[in-house]
Amino acid sequence: MSKFWNPFIKQLEPYIPGEQLDDPSIIKLNTNENPFPPSPKVLAAIEEEAEKNLRLYPSPTVDELREEIGSFYGLKKEQIFVGNGSDEVLALSFMTFFEPGKTIKYPDITYSFYPVYAQLYQLDVEEVTLEDGFTIPYESFFHSEGGVIFPNPNAPTSLYLELEAVEEILKNNPDQVVIIDEAYIDFAKKSAVSLIDNYSNLLVVQTLSKSRSLAGLRVGMAMGHPDLIEGLMRVKDSFNSYTIDRLAIAGAVEAFRDAAYFEKTRQKIIATREDFRQELEKRRFYVLPSQANFVLASPADIEAEKLFIELKQAGFLIRYFNKPKLENYVRISIGTKEQMTKLLHAIDRITKE
Ligand code: PMP
Repeated sequence: MSKFWNPFIKQLEPYIPGEQLDDPSIIKLNTNENPFPPSPKVLAAIEEEAEKNLRLYPSPTVDELREEIGSFYGLKKEQIFVGNGSDEVLALSFMTFFEPGKTIKYPDITYSFYPVYAQLYQLDVEEVTLEDGFTIPYESFFHSEGGVIFPNPNAPTSLYLELEAVEEILKNNPDQVVIIDEAYIDFAKKSAVSLIDNYSNLLVVQTLSKSRSLAGLRVGMAMGHPDLIEGLMRVKDSFNSYTIDRLAIAGAVEAFRDAAYFEKTRQKIIATREDFRQELEKRRFYVLPSQANFVLASPADIEAEKLFIELKQAGFLIRYFNKPKLENYVRISIGTKEQMTKLLHAIDRITKE
């Protein structure tokens, strides 16, 4: 804290992500990264770009990547915005579409970056209480004054809201933007991208950090009506007209082209998640029916916080949120099959002590 900070920044509570340890002996299952490396074709494309073009500025409009994403989803490039990780895309979306004085809504248990953005942009918020079992009471999101945002699947609950309910929220907020944060959608049923042509108030935000193994490259995107995208472009250009760099563009383009690799790794993670869930249930954990690359689970035979601490001592990082309603839960990212087997052995050792 410094006397030179403006009073508003002194009050700002920053977002603190899960610990990032570079010790390779630690099994890191705390920030929902992908356990598999990116596609070899992605690495080759980044290398080639570095050798040939790093001298040159990147394209400020990122057309090549927007076209590639467009062909993956059947959208026009005017319906796509690209940013430096979906965190940046979300921050720019808050600034572009939400207005101080008009209350926005998000769930009371959700991605913990939203309260930080709301504070940063001085927005009023109504936190919608989730139902018992952490499901989203979608009718509570109707008739918002200033807009709606929630992740689907929600984080850290891992639960997916059916698209029929998402559509009801869209229909009942015709003059507000509804942002669906689909960071984990590739491990779930169906993306709301299919609704974009029908709802001009829908903005779908996605990332290459999870299902495409590129958390370190920092690429995220928003998809929606061209008018929404134009607004985001205008705000972006006012901050940083280039936004994502040449290596990120080259890697991300190839990540969308190599659909086979994407499909193979995401199916492996979904299968491992289902096996892991059953194994936890055998060990008397309550596990929410996850549609993400992590599970939220509550152990019956040990306190969640104790499990978190003892696993850390044993070389496994998982996530414990010391927050109301989550005291008895841990969040565990889905790693490789081998990692999950090792984790289960460690859980057995800890709970049998
Ligand atoms: N939204 C949700 C719900 C997330 O969990 C995350 C990852 N922590 C993000 C957005 C941001 O991901 P990234 O900035 O890596 O794209």
